[in-house]
Amino acid sequence: MEEIRGRIHSEESAGTVDGPGLRYVVFTQGCPLRCQYCHNPDTWGLNGGKLITPQDLIDRIVKYKDFMKFSNGGVTVSGGEPLIQPKFVTELFKGLKAEGIHTAVDTAGHIDFSKDIEEVLKYTDLVLLDIKHLDPIRCKELTGFDNLRTLRFLDKLEDMRIKTWIRYVIVPTFNDTVEYAEKLADYVKKYKTVELVELLPYHEMGKFKWENLGLKYRLQGIEPPSKETVKAIAKIFNAKGIKTLGGGI
Ligand code: SF4
Repeated sequence: MEEIRGRIHSEESAGTVDGPGLRYVVFTQGCPLRCQYCHNPDTWGLNGGKLITPQDLIDRIVKYKDFMKFSNGGVTVSGGEPLIQPKFVTELFKGLKAEGIHTAVDTAGHIDFSKDIEEVLKYTDLVLLDIKHLDPIRCKELTGFDNLRTLRFLDKLEDMRIKTWIRYVIVPTFNDTVEYAEKLADYVKKYKTVELVELLPYHEMGKFKWENLGLKYRLQGIEPPSKETVKAIAKIFNAKGIKTLGGGI
């Protein structure tokens, strides 16, 4: 049988922003989207990064098990887009679950649902799902693709009862209005599996990477949203009974 290996970009042993508690974060290599605000454009290429077996990664991760347990943390696989390597993530999560470690996947959900994806979800405790934009045309402008796959993926998460946090990157001129926040709140409210919405104000921290890669940064001149805007958005979700997290407020 062919050995499963994953292509990863990097690892972080004590992440605090990608799911609950202290987390070992694995950034996978390769992403089909081209989000204008991406702060990891160096993860886009499908052939970059380094190859690793799930077991090698598990051996490294288990050394941090006590920290993770103590903080109610675990492991998050982020990217890039982790779900383009479903067999690797399944094997990794299977091993982590056998060690009693909490597993999360951070995804844009822009994948065709398949048996392989279903397998990943069997070993996934939490999905962090990034809804880039509810309007398919605006979504395409922002990421290069419409949102159809992402929204279908959310339906599947609901069917499978997988605990989900929605990630909402607030980008001025794209999705920072009260009207948009109302729409998103109404949309996600229907899903029992959605536990909260994480507010992530757009920032320019990845801009230098675009420049280093010789890419044109298209959000040039767009300022991060103000604290007032983020607070107003949080209030909209909270008023509809949806818990919010983050946003620096
Ligand atoms: S999905 Fe994530 S990694 Fe891919 S382009 Fe968008 S922000 Fe970057």
